[in-house]
Amino acid sequence: MIKTINFRTLGCRLNHAESDSIQYGLHMAGYQIVGDKTAADLTIINSCAVTQQAEAKTRGAIAVARRISPHGKIAVIGCYAQLSPEVVADLKGVNLILGNSEKYRIQDLLDILEKGQKEIHVARIVGGDTFPPLGLISKGSRTRAHMKVQEGCDYRCAYCIIPLLRGSTRSRNLQSCVDEAVMLREQGFKEIVLSGINIGTYRDSEQDFSDLVSAILSKSDIERLRISSIEPDLLTDRLIELMRSEPRLCRHFHIPLQHGSNEVLGWMRRRYKAELFFDLVNNLFQNIPGVCIGTDVLVGFPGESEKHFNEMMSLLEQLPLAYFHVFRYSARPGTAAVGLNDSVPIQIKKERSEALRLLSDRKRNHFLRQFNGADLSVLIEKKSKLGLYRGLSDNYITVNVKSDNQIVNNIRIIRITDIGIAEVQGELIGG
Ligand code: SF4
Repeated sequence: MIKTINFRTLGCRLNHAESDSIQYGLHMAGYQIVGDKTAADLTIINSCAVTQQAEAKTRGAIAVARRISPHGKIAVIGCYAQLSPEVVADLKGVNLILGNSEKYRIQDLLDILEKGQKEIHVARIVGGDTFPPLGLISKGSRTRAHMKVQEGCDYRCAYCIIPLLRGSTRSRNLQSCVDEAVMLREQGFKEIVLSGINIGTYRDSEQDFSDLVSAILSKSDIERLRISSIEPDLLTDRLIELMRSEPRLCRHFHIPLQHGSNEVLGWMRRRYKAELFFDLVNNLFQNIPGVCIGTDVLVGFPGESEKHFNEMMSLLEQLPLAYFHVFRYSARPGTAAVGLNDSVPIQIKKERSEALRLLSDRKRNHFLRQFNGADLSVLIEKKSKLGLYRGLSDNYITVNVKSDNQIVNNIRIIRITDIGIAEVQGELIGG
């Protein structure tokens, strides 16, 4: 009899938002959700297949689940299950395999596991309404809620498998997003993170992503709204103006660049040139004081030469970026690039991604040092083991602070006194 369930979630923010929603639904249905290091009757693994490394990590998570819950059942859901259902089904210990259209129905399929059967439920074409029902939003932490507002993607970047795994772009109804924001505020959440796959393509009839952001800000009194990630060619002047003028919209943009060479961007079938990204980042930096701008970069795309790589390094050197997420190219089935000769040796890929990580660390520290002595608005999320309270500023800085009072889920002004490698420490202002 399945009573206890734990989760292992891999991959993107959206996967984490979806796991939280499914977890909340099972909790409301009476199942006991336990930590991922606690033995459980069922382990649900929300998988990722964006790279070959991600697939390997999913297989690793399955092995860990078997070790922690030797008598438990395992359900693998999401992108790896969607891409290779038979391969996943053959992995030892796996009982239920659900694709991206079916994962929200897991609650209705648990009886299959009770009967000890093994089943695959994966629609070849992903589509339809794969949004969590109203009120079943992620409740991972009591301070921040991830709201899935958009799904799928119609872009066809040459290296990317996501459109094949998540289907074409579709958006959640704007009014239901506003209703959810009002409900989350009433439940005590202080921040909502708007999540999707290609969020800038959000559309609800004539209303676009800026309309959604503006509607949530004007029709709910949520204290903070954060945008998870947005493509450079979809970041509109209206959105920049909203962020410049609306203090509740967190000063944080994550804008995937992928590469700094126009030739490689062309091969990747990205929809902009490096110059657009250069102008956009400088425009944000000049118009939104204290803004945190992060990016994604991909090394080792077929044909990438030392010259291409140096073009990227020089572009990133010049830009006021605060951090990069660095990925190594790996060929993905069904993508336009899969047929290209994967010409960059793995050792070179490793060296180039290491060089980018070191540059990202330097940029991060340079960004943090700007706030020494400054006051930041911080949402306190938890009390760390060291007895310090820990939170995130609106501009994506992790801040630690001492307090005699319990301040979790409070937004407090903190004066920054110490700058660390990747975090800062400060003092509470105003008691
Ligand atoms: S925009 Fe490109 S990289 Fe992003 S999900 Fe769509 S195809 Fe993939």
